[in-house]
Amino acid sequence: MPLYEYHCDACESEFTKRRAIKEADAPIQCPDCENEEVTRKLSLFIALTKNDSGVTSLGGGGGCGCGGACACGGHLN
Ligand SMILES: [Zn+2]
Repeated sequence: MPLYEYHCDACESEFTKRRAIKEADAPIQCPDCENEEVTRKLSLFIALTKNDSGVTSLGGGGGCGCGGACACGGHLN
């Protein structure tokens, strides 16, 4: 599940929330002031999550196709 970043328009605080993709734009309350006027920021975590799901399907089999640049250990087998 991706991690989204939000910015509260009322108190200017920023927070993150892990939600389903289909809920990314659903209303959410600021944890500091409980205001719902928050803006979702684009987050790199979305891309990282997609990569993770691709790698886990290869779990334990080695050969994740990462070229040895990641920490999955697949290239060590
Ligand atoms: Zn707030």
